[in-house]
Amino acid sequence: MEKLSIEDMAVFCKRKGFAYPNSEIYGGIAGFWDFGHLGVELKNNIKREWWKFHVNGREDIVGMEGSIITHPRVWVASGHVENFEDVMLTCSKCKERIRADHFVQEKLKINVEGLDSKEINKLVNKNKLKCPKCGSGFEDIKDFNLMFKTNVGPKEDKTSVSYLRPETAQVIFADFKLVVDNARLKVPFGIAQIGKGFRNEISPRDFLFRCREFDMMEIEYFVHPDKSEECPYINDVMNSELNFYSAEMQQKNKKPQKMKVKDALKKKLISEWHAYWLATEQKWFTSLGANADNFHVRQHLKEEKSHYALDTWDLEYNFPFGWKELQGIANRTDFDLKQHIKFSGKDLSIFDEETKEKIVPYVVAEPSLGVERAFLVFMFDAYNYNKKRGNVVLNLHPKLAPVKVAVFPLVSNKPKIVKKAREVYDGLKGEFNCLYDSGGSIGRRYARNDEIGTPYCITIDFDSLKKNDCTLRNRNTTKQVRVKIKDLKDVVTKLLNSK
Ligand SMILES: [Zn+2]
Repeated sequence: MEKLSIEDMAVFCKRKGFAYPNSEIYGGIAGFWDFGHLGVELKNNIKREWWKFHVNGREDIVGMEGSIITHPRVWVASGHVENFEDVMLTCSKCKERIRADHFVQEKLKINVEGLDSKEINKLVNKNKLKCPKCGSGFEDIKDFNLMFKTNVGPKEDKTSVSYLRPETAQVIFADFKLVVDNARLKVPFGIAQIGKGFRNEISPRDFLFRCREFDMMEIEYFVHPDKSEECPYINDVMNSELNFYSAEMQQKNKKPQKMKVKDALKKKLISEWHAYWLATEQKWFTSLGANADNFHVRQHLKEEKSHYALDTWDLEYNFPFGWKELQGIANRTDFDLKQHIKFSGKDLSIFDEETKEKIVPYVVAEPSLGVERAFLVFMFDAYNYNKKRGNVVLNLHPKLAPVKVAVFPLVSNKPKIVKKAREVYDGLKGEFNCLYDSGGSIGRRYARNDEIGTPYCITIDFDSLKKNDCTLRNRNTTKQVRVKIKDLKDVVTKLLNSK
């Protein structure tokens, strides 16, 4: 099947009520998106399923929710005030501002990951790159901090400056001691959080992929510093298959290779914790209907790695605009906690019962993911134009589908049929997100619901009046079965949970 472009996906999402540009009546504002009546349901479902899988479904991870604005010292300690920057080119004539690394990468078709501003500037000058808008040269290259600034309180000066958080992780580190003590956590454990993040991207693009405001689902996972090599859960994923793309494979221009986790470990390709989290995260996606063939796990090349990370592997997805990062699984060691200990002057070490010692745990992985990126993955893998039906069928997993059941009266001019259809709708709407639709032909109504991913459609027809039953149609097969109205709730519940 031909893949939809990201632009076509944006058009589809707007037309159906999933997502559209924020404040479009004023011309919109780049990098900000609003979610419509279906988009908000899909987004909430993604967050709920993520929380169930990562927090409620596990003993070793608890949740928290921090505020968006936090003490500005948090961002000094984390390094964001000094280092959270992209390199920016400014046109000397029309003053257009461009994100330099993306621009150079696209123009010269080379990987500039890890190069600093000086080195990128050299490439720009050497290759005589010009402003794409007006063709003029550029001013000297500048670093641009991506944090949104604001002032807290009535004074607008240096002393009141704070930031909208660029990630939720630092709030987890700042509250680390409280959460650990309250929840009586013992290593290994994780702390999870879902919430807004903000980045003042120089050039937001690719629809929801690179926005300035987004939702994040983050976990910081802590282990005993001496045990960052052994994962007690590794047996759960030994037989999981991943598409491995090691640094060596990339350097030798080889293709990614499908391998079971146990074989990758035998070859010493990857550490247990990296393998465990990558397999677990891919499983979350595929258990909700994403296609495993569109994922690979890619090791960072030496020059790409962050200064604090020992080894980093990304879970990447095959977007129509290329393979892009969904999650970076990095061993951050005790970098963040040590920084907060240094800047706050507080003791953030914890007592480990097992070894009877005080430790500052290592963050062995941060399986964190943007909700909007997950949104795109599920939409791309679900989108399918069905030639036979002549309409789009959005094969969303029932747990993610914005509308679970649509209820139709076969005809809208027979009061008895309408009344019964209303009764059925009223009986189900408290249980699942339902939709009542009496407009147009039944075929049209089926098509409309295929396009928004409704897994089941119920029709009340003439037989329903005599037999107290209805037809239940399956989106994927179009097969219909008759179900007694009194059994509907149970039957639909079972069907929605069966996949
Ligand atoms: Zn220009």
